[in-house]
Amino acid sequence: MALIVHKYGGTSMGSTDRIKNVAARVAKWHDAGHQIVVVPSAMSGETNRLIGMAREIMGDQPDPRELDMICSTGEQVSVGLLAMALLAIGKDAVSYAGWQVAIKTDSSFTKARIQSIDDAKVRADLDSGKIVIITGFQGVDDDGNISTLGRGGSDTSAVAIAAAMKADECLIYTDVDGVYTTDPRVVSEARRLKTVTFEEMLEMASLGSKVLQSRSVEFAGNYRVPTRVLSSLTDPLMPLEEEANSGTLISFEEDTNMEQAVISGIAFNRDEAKITILGVPDKPGVAYHILGPVSDANIEVDMIIQNQSVAGKTDFTFTVSRGEYTKAMGVLEGVKGEIGAASVLGDAKVSKVSVVGVGMRSHVGVASQMFRTLSEEGINILMISTSEIKISVLIDEKYMELAVRALHKAFDLEKA
Ligand code: ADP
Ligand code: ASP
Ligand code: MG
Repeated sequence: MALIVHKYGGTSMGSTDRIKNVAARVAKWHDAGHQIVVVPSAMSGETNRLIGMAREIMGDQPDPRELDMICSTGEQVSVGLLAMALLAIGKDAVSYAGWQVAIKTDSSFTKARIQSIDDAKVRADLDSGKIVIITGFQGVDDDGNISTLGRGGSDTSAVAIAAAMKADECLIYTDVDGVYTTDPRVVSEARRLKTVTFEEMLEMASLGSKVLQSRSVEFAGNYRVPTRVLSSLTDPLMPLEEEANSGTLISFEEDTNMEQAVISGIAFNRDEAKITILGVPDKPGVAYHILGPVSDANIEVDMIIQNQSVAGKTDFTFTVSRGEYTKAMGVLEGVKGEIGAASVLGDAKVSKVSVVGVGMRSHVGVASQMFRTLSEEGINILMISTSEIKISVLIDEKYMELAVRALHKAFDLEKA
């Protein structure tokens, strides 16, 4: 008998028929003698619908605490429906919201971090033979406020629960049959990877591959949770052995990845924004005085460049996610005078494309190949950043898909 956490995404929970399929699949695993915790997302489109209503009332920046109160309801509906679907086929099941478990988080509403999970009640239910269903995406802070974990956060709930309970495996069921060399919806030749190293998956997720939320990969790595991404759209009654070996396994050992090429995948993030502060006096503390207020406003900064100074003045450019662009511009307009900057410019129509692979450690020439490919397509690079296993470029949003396709071909990713 193993303890297994199943996570089902929005498409997988997208209708009452799909929920019945999830129930049949979960029942199959339970009937095979396993203890099962299920973490579903809201039905597809529901979180967007809830955010849309909040914006109709409060505009672009709805109050974060109240937004979490609203958004958490999507998952609450899902867990109740799934529990009913299991009860209806004669399985004993119980559903809980995050606060009932409790999944404790900090108070950063809309992007809260999980701090602890009390699994006592869940364990007691499992030991009495029940299937336990817990809302994804949410928790509760020390003051009893409902918090959510950021878009795509149900992945993180599932892996964190698996880590806290020392589960034997966390199975992330989604609408694709694994992790591909890039988003198969953008490049039809993309190839499924049988395994992907934890480090590569972390880079791909944090660089925009939304197949897994990046914090879920951090949990998988920190607690060594065996995690697999697989399809929820197959026949729910397919043989369990076959299902258990399908999809993509996140591996913790580099050398087990026999498929290892120099580049394993291409990630992209469409929704970036670039902000430039022109004519700042170049003296110690420039970066701090610009980025300090941005960070105080809880806005995450990604790429950063400071130009060579000319006549004691420099230009400073950084990127933020597009959703935080208006807020970041507001912060900088506020401090512009104080830091002595001439002006602040912004471009909210930029995207980031990254090539990722642990093979880069032992191979040179990846950057030049990437830049040559983009230049052959006539794509201008606005910013570059690198780490040991990735190279990212910022480009005009309208060339993003072209860049991803050209790079996928240039690095031969469609070939095994
Ligand atoms: P869920 O609702 O199950 O959480 P998501 O929409 O969040 O599903 O994530 C699955 C989607 O991620 C896929 O439909 C696919 O379009 C996208 N995706 C992006 N990059 C990749 C990749 N490298 N491999 C597989 N899917 C990817
Ligand atoms: N329902 C949330 C979202 O749409 C969480 C998730 O699906 O993982 O972002
Ligand atoms: Mg998701």
